[in-house]
Amino acid sequence: MEVPALSLREQYETIRAPLEAAVAEVFESQLFILGPKVAQCEEAIADYCRCAHAVGVSSGTDALLICLMAEGIGPGDEVITTPYTFFATAGAIVRVGARPVFVDIDPTTYNLDPELLSAAVTPRTRAIMPVHLFGQMADMDPIMEVAAQQGLTVIEDAAQAIGAEYNARRAGSVGHYGCLSFFPSKNLGGAGDGGMVVTNDRGRAEKLAVLRVHGAEPKYHHACIGGNFRLDALQAAVVNVKVHHLDTWTAARQAGAARYDRLLGESGLVQDGTVALPRVHASRHVFNQYVIRVPERDELAAFLKDEGIGARVYYPVPLHLQECLRYLGYTDGSLPESERAARETLALPIYPELTDEQAHYVVDRICAFFAA
Ligand SMILES: *Cc1c(COP(=O)(O)O)cnc(C)c1O
Repeated sequence: MEVPALSLREQYETIRAPLEAAVAEVFESQLFILGPKVAQCEEAIADYCRCAHAVGVSSGTDALLICLMAEGIGPGDEVITTPYTFFATAGAIVRVGARPVFVDIDPTTYNLDPELLSAAVTPRTRAIMPVHLFGQMADMDPIMEVAAQQGLTVIEDAAQAIGAEYNARRAGSVGHYGCLSFFPSKNLGGAGDGGMVVTNDRGRAEKLAVLRVHGAEPKYHHACIGGNFRLDALQAAVVNVKVHHLDTWTAARQAGAARYDRLLGESGLVQDGTVALPRVHASRHVFNQYVIRVPERDELAAFLKDEGIGARVYYPVPLHLQECLRYLGYTDGSLPESERAARETLALPIYPELTDEQAHYVVDRICAFFAA
């Protein structure tokens, strides 16, 4: 049996007709950049995230970048984030000329440990970028408390967590900005690159809208330097169709996670401490990834690959140990929980259309590995 890490085809087949109609409409209109499809998408996503405003941008990476630019963050400034995330989070900080300051993670949720936050704040700190990793929101209350005390901006990296909730608030709606990605493998994926920033602050939304068109306001008059951060109408058209299915897909991911919890629980591997299941602490985990912890991770990953199972490692090298960030001065052992997570975590296939049979096969093969 083959169990890919992700398969988008089944989902596509269920919405092929409305997707093709939406794409055809864009071609009929010949309006490819911003325009009514993007405006409609912004309204739908703002609603979905329970935010007042949304600004469509070219990717999740550019969403992070444009928020830092909107805050005027640059050389001499520090931005606190987690080292256990996709590279874009820290990459955006470095690209505006600021310095990433890494805070270690909570080993059970893999999100930034708020207990360690205060100690990382210096007079140069301007912002905190918490990441809602794998589809579960970071512990936002204490993060917002530190931010309020110190006058810091909070930019949520919600690329993996659209629709996730913490204390009844949705990802992206708690901080000053929320950054979303429509990369195809995210829970709400387009047909290429795309992203969005959500915010409850009208002034910030207006600034983002100017920055995404090279800072032009009005056209050909530039009071500030932005970039080409526009969202394509074709991507917006695809997202507009798919957003109506997101809650159904999320429910299927959650059911898939509960099924893994049950099957792995029944296997005995959890009780004897061989495998640690994902810990759900927030009120709505949307399971962009279902991540287990196993000390023999690399051996298990190789075994599962041979058995036709797409188990993946997110992420094998924490950001503080990346070659291009060596100048920051971190070394092996600086952020031990992030380093341990990078060695021990493994994501099992969790896309919404994964079948019962496939899930049983995955757990059966995990058991076979430990029985050998
Ligand atoms: C995917 C992702 C991004 C970047 O989004 P793109 O749309 O691929 O640029 C940023 N942060 C995290 C945590 C992500 O998972």
